[in-house]
Amino acid sequence: MLISALLLAVFPPLFHLGGFSEWLHRALIFLVVSCPCALVLSVPLSFFGGIGGASRKGILIKGGNDLETLSKAEIMIFDKTGTLPQRRFLLTEVCPENMEKSQLIELAAMAESYSHHPIAESICRAFGKEIDQSRIGDIQEIPGKGIAATIDGKHILAGNQRLMEEYRISYHATSAIGTIVHIAADGVYAGYLVISDRIKPEVKEALAELKRLGVKKTVMLSGDTPATCRAIGKELGLDLVFAGLLPTDKVAHAEELFRQKSRGTLIYVGDGMNDAPVLARADVGIAMGAMGQDAAIEAADVVLMDDKLTLLPQAIRLSKKTMAILRQNIIFALSVKALVLILGVFGIANMWLAVFADVGVTVLAILNAMRALQKNPEILSRTY
Ligand code: ADP
Ligand code: MG
Repeated sequence: MLISALLLAVFPPLFHLGGFSEWLHRALIFLVVSCPCALVLSVPLSFFGGIGGASRKGILIKGGNDLETLSKAEIMIFDKTGTLPQRRFLLTEVCPENMEKSQLIELAAMAESYSHHPIAESICRAFGKEIDQSRIGDIQEIPGKGIAATIDGKHILAGNQRLMEEYRISYHATSAIGTIVHIAADGVYAGYLVISDRIKPEVKEALAELKRLGVKKTVMLSGDTPATCRAIGKELGLDLVFAGLLPTDKVAHAEELFRQKSRGTLIYVGDGMNDAPVLARADVGIAMGAMGQDAAIEAADVVLMDDKLTLLPQAIRLSKKTMAILRQNIIFALSVKALVLILGVFGIANMWLAVFADVGVTVLAILNAMRALQKNPEILSRTY
């Protein structure tokens, strides 16, 4: 810009197009107008505003690029357990084999006592008593399957059919609706517990809102059984449901969906450590923060603090709003500057107009960027 201004000051007088002082004045106007402050300040400020506004609502966004990617959401993938049905699963059925109900719950609660999985928490809550940690030996959490633990010297398994099959335990197949946790002690089947996932009506509303905001496909990837997943998928009106998946299967399905998408982005929403690989692979990974496991939060780009799925459409709306503000600022700054530059070259613009095109436009762009902070309640405080 400095070179252009210098050329403007030197060449026209050489070709007898006017006096040197006149062209020096025009060159100075050119220099003032061409200062890029408005763009340099307003672009990051819009992002800061968007990120700040989101964090007020409990949506933590790690960077400006994530906000931009979020605004182009095309495919949205959800994990089931811990993400779609809201928290506080309930233990609804206890079916022991060769033992008392209370014994089965105690065994399950002890095995699950170190897990942060929502299923584990619901079992411990249902047990409701202090757990004697001295009775528990090794505990191993097997993602997508369950828990293997040593309790009172016995090898206890608590998990789904897949876990039972892995240890060759003949389990009782049941058609109960909900997540089934089979228990085995020293290789002998001990019964099962049924955990019900209740879906709050606002989750359905939030998913419908996402569709209205331009999300073309909603998908559920889950490690749970097909029957339970299909029921939830149908209730929520999801486009695709894939069940019985291990963490690696989730990545494979996400890759396939990557290939299917057109120009938009792929967003993954999950809570568990088995979601971490896909959270990292997705264009934007969103973790349920309040109860989500550390690995998921670490791998995610966005964290929802309240585990409220209703925050998702708010996050998308906010990202779109921020990008719109950004575009307004760029177009406004560039067009005012281009106009004043042309007027300046032809000697029509004076220095005051040049100062307006620089500082004035910067101030207006910053004021506009501040709208992304969402002090205006109309955008974020819509209730679902
Ligand atoms: P989702 O993919 O739906 O979030 P997860 O991958 O967390 O589900 O778990 C898949 C399945 O693995 C669960 O439906 C459950 O059957 C079993 N599972 C995982 N963790 C546990 C656990 N701590 N106790 C019992 N079962 C578990
Ligand atoms: Mg989960």
